[in-house]
Amino acid sequence: MNIPIFVPHVGCPNDCAFCNQRSITGVTEAPAPESVGSIADEYLSGGGAGENTIAFFGGSFTGIEPSLQRRYLAEAKKYLDAGKISGIRLSTRPDYIDADVLKLLGEYGVTNIELGAQSMDDGVLAASGRGHDSGAVRRAAGMIRERGFTLGLQMMTGLPLDTPEKSLATAEEFIRLGAAETRIYPTLVMERTRLADMYRAGLYRPQTVEEAAELGAALYGKFRDAGVKVLRVGLSDSEELKGGCVAGPYHPAMGELVISRFVRNQLEAHAEEGALRISAPKKYFSKIVGPRRCNARYFREKGVYFSLTEGEEPLVNGRYELLF
Ligand code: SF4
Repeated sequence: MNIPIFVPHVGCPNDCAFCNQRSITGVTEAPAPESVGSIADEYLSGGGAGENTIAFFGGSFTGIEPSLQRRYLAEAKKYLDAGKISGIRLSTRPDYIDADVLKLLGEYGVTNIELGAQSMDDGVLAASGRGHDSGAVRRAAGMIRERGFTLGLQMMTGLPLDTPEKSLATAEEFIRLGAAETRIYPTLVMERTRLADMYRAGLYRPQTVEEAAELGAALYGKFRDAGVKVLRVGLSDSEELKGGCVAGPYHPAMGELVISRFVRNQLEAHAEEGALRISAPKKYFSKIVGPRRCNARYFREKGVYFSLTEGEEPLVNGRYELLF
């Protein structure tokens, strides 16, 4: 479980075309460093057993004042030293990583560093106003791995000038760079962003939900095959997200939709047998039938018999293993 501490836009002078931190996190003020402990206590008292990490998300953590970084991290380190959490993770921009930054993070026991890489295509990065190129991602990723941190690389799909091929190439490069973790975010057009202006001026066409789900499933499969943990697909749903979203592939359960599409694509290969008799442990049921039973409906509308029963292993027609 991640204990998320949102430090929104603190220290970030950038102006990415898609970004409106207020709409995405629903928080406008960063919590005081002294409140990290009470936020963590609240999560931990919820009985979340197992591996917990304190996670500084929402902006570019290493872009904020080093003295303020230290104050946040010192609070988190108390929990690490007390064995209450197993790690500290944070997200930041690739161009906010250098030797001094990594030294500071190492002093406080940071374990996981996630870079908002977004794309490895320089044209896409420039059109999205990221203010860094793919070389910055390569450099930062190498330094992070050399110093023994766990590397996470986050990507977005459907950015200006992006194509499915460029997104797939980005995933392949993440794998080559040694990412252990990733997050995949289909681009949403949020109110009060430059992307919203581009959309209204007819200069940007967002992905449809269908396109985002299909591409997300292909990316998910690629990362899965390479052993890269997919930590999240799509932003967490919230009233602020839904209300602030002007256009794009908004779906309240994008992650579930993408994994169920990954499952559907496997089932498709066996649908020509005319029947899909699936048995699987209950925990996989929602991924197999899909949100609002979309997978079950899809095959039934194609005239394919679709049944799902409980079983020990996820199998199709008694022979083929289903992957998740
Ligand atoms: S996406 Fe990150 S780097 Fe870009 S403007 Fe938002 S907070 Fe800053």
